[in-house]
Amino acid sequence: MPAGARLDSPAAGMAELQPPYTSQQAVVEAQRCLFCFDAPCIQACPTGIDVPSFIRKIAHGNPVAAARTILSANILGASCARVCPTEVLCEGACVVLSWEGDPVKIGRLQRHATDYVFEQLDVAGDRPGLAEQCSALRILGKPAASSGKRVAIIGGGPAGLGCAAELAQLGHQAVVFEKRPRAGGLNTHGVAVYKMKPATGLAEVELVKSLGVEFRCGVEVGRDISVAQLEKEFDAIFIGMGFGGGLRLGIPGGDLPEVITALDFIEQIHTRPAAEVRVGKCVAVIGGGNTAIDAVTQARRLGAPSATVIYHRGENDLPAYPFEYELAKRDGAQFLFNAAALEILAEEGRVSALRLARTRVNDAGALETVPGSEWVEPFDMVIEAIGQEKQTETLRRHFPALEFDERGAVQCHAVTGRTNLPRVFAGGDCANGGHEVVHAVADGKRAARGIHAMFSGETVTGPVQPSRLGVAGGAFGSGLDYRRRFLEQHSQSANDGVVHG
Ligand SMILES: Cc1cc2nc3c(=O)[nH]c(=O)nc-3n(C[C@H](O)[C@H](O)[C@H](O)COP(=O)(O)OP(=O)(O)OC[C@H]3O[C@@H](n4cnc5c(N)ncnc54)[C@H](O)[C@@H]3O)c2cc1C
Ligand code: SF4
Repeated sequence: MPAGARLDSPAAGMAELQPPYTSQQAVVEAQRCLFCFDAPCIQACPTGIDVPSFIRKIAHGNPVAAARTILSANILGASCARVCPTEVLCEGACVVLSWEGDPVKIGRLQRHATDYVFEQLDVAGDRPGLAEQCSALRILGKPAASSGKRVAIIGGGPAGLGCAAELAQLGHQAVVFEKRPRAGGLNTHGVAVYKMKPATGLAEVELVKSLGVEFRCGVEVGRDISVAQLEKEFDAIFIGMGFGGGLRLGIPGGDLPEVITALDFIEQIHTRPAAEVRVGKCVAVIGGGNTAIDAVTQARRLGAPSATVIYHRGENDLPAYPFEYELAKRDGAQFLFNAAALEILAEEGRVSALRLARTRVNDAGALETVPGSEWVEPFDMVIEAIGQEKQTETLRRHFPALEFDERGAVQCHAVTGRTNLPRVFAGGDCANGGHEVVHAVADGKRAARGIHAMFSGETVTGPVQPSRLGVAGGAFGSGLDYRRRFLEQHSQSANDGVVHG
């Protein structure tokens, strides 16, 4: 990407990283698939999408049927097609990767099918008639007859949406409480726009609405409505509150106007015209995870002539995925390893530099700054990308008896999402300790099935994975139901008290 290209310029970095396939390109790519029996790519998908089945449908020129297969397993299949780290999930497991060194591009094929259907449906805004159109295309299964049960979902992010959609399809009324004006969670306001535009996340919210799910946006549970009230009005509660705001470094100078958390920086890009997002000429991003990479890449794509990640350990310790690191380097980001920021310096009230020190690991294995190694490096903007706040304390206030694990994540059953409180379930970042969008959707879906089992005594599995017909144990259960199968194989009831590790 050329230095200085702003997101909204013609040469812009606003474009999504992976351009969509044309129909012809999609068919050609689909034909690379070996349509493996009991394929490892299904197992590697946390939502268990029947990958060879949907790819075969694309190869036969039927993207609508392909989308049906995808969305029946993962209602957020369109956003997962863009934001999933496919390199470590389905594509990382693809047999063609070991044969040819280049996997079948499952993510891009998934995007092709879901985009095709979203274009047919014209899913945008609050669209009346969407449910009828979905029904005409038979995109989503017909919801079961109403059970009369009502479930409150706290948080309209991927976990909440995954739970709500599954509950609706199982015949239960789901009401999503979302504190922000728009639902979608980090898909709408947190994922880097070069991966996915907020419009895709919002279109998925419309799809979930079309199943009869009610959204109450701008309503914060604990402030605008109490948990006691939810307990009174609803038969069950699902907690999908994600994490809180960005963590702060807490070093001197952190309150200067050009210091911002990565989360706030990315949210500005989602909510303002690109020309109005302030970016420095010489940007420091402090951190080393995927969010730091998103922030530095986004800063470069917004036109920062120089953007540098400052990470306190070495290159080999970088927690970001290697492919994200490579992307940032290709976009011209620089990296300063084994360095810690001690102070943000200012001139005339504006950020002017960082006081840095070298770091090393001492004999006891602890990280320390090297005495006498300090130096000053000029920067005019600092982005802090050191993680997100946990919701533990907030949740303790709302649910005083709720149990947490040692990481401060809500402790819940690995298969059913059930917590230690009766009628309270949980999933997504607040329960899994922070993962990816696809894991949050899978958690939400499993919890919906856990809630359904509590209501009806019925165990729901599937969907059926036709490409696995003939597999011992049945043609379902790869990916999403892996945990259930694991517990059953190890002679533990899938409904006992086993919790997330
Ligand atoms: C900067 C960044 C980039 C990321 N990039 C990727 C990526 O490229 N690919 C990927 O797969 N994953 C990515 N992730 C991770 C992914 O976004 C999360 O794992 C996923 O969004 C978790 O879903 P969730 O529903 O648990 O939480 P969230 O998406 O955080 O949703 C929780 C929702 O709950 C709402 N809420 C919270 N408290 C309340 C309350 N009291 N009342 C009502 N509503 C409430 C919030 O407003 C929010 O909308 C990224 C994360 C970050 C921070
Ligand atoms: S592992 Fe690769 S080749 Fe085999 S079915 Fe999956 S995508 Fe196709």
